[in-house]
Amino acid sequence: MKKSVEQKDTSPSPDQPVTSEVKAPRGEEKPEFFKVIQGYLDDASRIVGLPDYVRTILRQPKNEIIVNFPVQMDNGEYRLFKGYRIQHSNILGPYKGGMRYHESASLDDFKALAAMMTWKGALMNLPLGGAKGGIKFNPHGVSRSELKRITRRFFHALGSNIGPDYDIPAPDVGTNGQTMAWAMDTYMNTVGMVSKQAVMGVVTGKPVTSGGTHGRVKATGQGVVHCIRMWAEDNRFDLHGKKLIVQGFGNVGSHAAVLLSHMGVSTVAVGDHTGYLYNPEGFNVYRLQEYVAEHGSIAGYPNGHAVSREDFFNIQADIFVPAALENQVDTQEATALNGVRLVAEGANGPCTVAGERVLKERGIEVLPDVLANAGGVTVSYYEWVQNKRSEQWALEEVDTRLEAAMRDAYRRVIEFDRAHRCGLRLACYGVALQRLGKVYEEREIFP
Ligand code: NAD
Repeated sequence: MKKSVEQKDTSPSPDQPVTSEVKAPRGEEKPEFFKVIQGYLDDASRIVGLPDYVRTILRQPKNEIIVNFPVQMDNGEYRLFKGYRIQHSNILGPYKGGMRYHESASLDDFKALAAMMTWKGALMNLPLGGAKGGIKFNPHGVSRSELKRITRRFFHALGSNIGPDYDIPAPDVGTNGQTMAWAMDTYMNTVGMVSKQAVMGVVTGKPVTSGGTHGRVKATGQGVVHCIRMWAEDNRFDLHGKKLIVQGFGNVGSHAAVLLSHMGVSTVAVGDHTGYLYNPEGFNVYRLQEYVAEHGSIAGYPNGHAVSREDFFNIQADIFVPAALENQVDTQEATALNGVRLVAEGANGPCTVAGERVLKERGIEVLPDVLANAGGVTVSYYEWVQNKRSEQWALEEVDTRLEAAMRDAYRRVIEFDRAHRCGLRLACYGVALQRLGKVYEEREIFP
């Protein structure tokens, strides 16, 4: 039975023992993210003349699934966790989107992020809808075996709310290929022996040996870098010798930094959930990536000195890649940026509306999330296709397809902006909404 829970998420944080006293929810105090996304939708709808009934449908997710599930921790205690899956739209294809493990994740965030997945699928011309989900807890605060049990219980609790032709999760903040391998295995073991191998595509972002695709791990960072390169070509901006600052040195941020280093861009400052590091000579980003893989964060990395978050935003650089969380670049951060010409949004929603206004006033270009980080879902789609066909594509094939897809989407966004003078963010929404509007026009509403 599929569950569709239409409810306001006012329940307490589950990241605590079942028996403990109820504390005030953490991280629920940022309700504006979803409203911001709805605002962009409204603005872009006016530009493309989207019928009002389509806009009304797209303003809300189709299903909001919340599951509370218990897990026995290593010390024998039981803890109740709260998991979410927000399915925004499946008009273009199965729901698709990442699973986030983060202590401040909230229903509002997941609604915003799920909607953005719908725009990304539409913009990239993929036969996929939009979804997002995850668990509200700190994955750095549990052991590996606890993480495995939490993941397995979560995906078991979701049951048939996900599936390879229905809703296909992927990694996001706090999750990775290992998480997806556990998720796939859990799902496989619920469908019976005969169907087991046929459902490999229930998640993407799996390790290559467990049915993943070559090129998925770096795909989002790669897509960000394709966008930066195309923007640089358009603006006669020589990337060689330029300086980069990166907030979030996980999957997206670290791969963007590594790939930009191939083009002569030097990463001079990085930050993550543990703090910020500065190295005026430029980091060896390969070594830093290896260090983070081993230690889980940049904390304690020897070749750089610690700076405050405030100082990080004021370090002289040419390009800034936010690759951590939403709402990181508000007016203060946008004002502090020192010499930056381009902000390429690896993260989803890193700039607040007010922050983006300051960037615009200062002549700093923003490559918006819906385009800039769409390389991840695009290569996830390639993985899903390979699983369906029982194929394994070479890395070169994945890379070539991704580059062509990013170039095509980038050009369509630029052309839309030229025609409507609306800015690149609304241009992304506009291109996506044109496709969604056309599909609604053709199919109409059941019955
Ligand atoms: P990740 O977990 O691999 O890395 C997240 C990084 O952000 C880590 O370095 C973490 O320490 C840092 N971080 C967390 N909280 C922070 C805080 N309060 N301040 C500073 N840094 C903090 O996650 P990821 O997959 O790289 O995702 C990063 C962003 O990119 C997210 O916004 C995600 O939605 C977006 N994104 C990811 C993908 C993907 O394929 N993984 C695709 C599209 C968009």
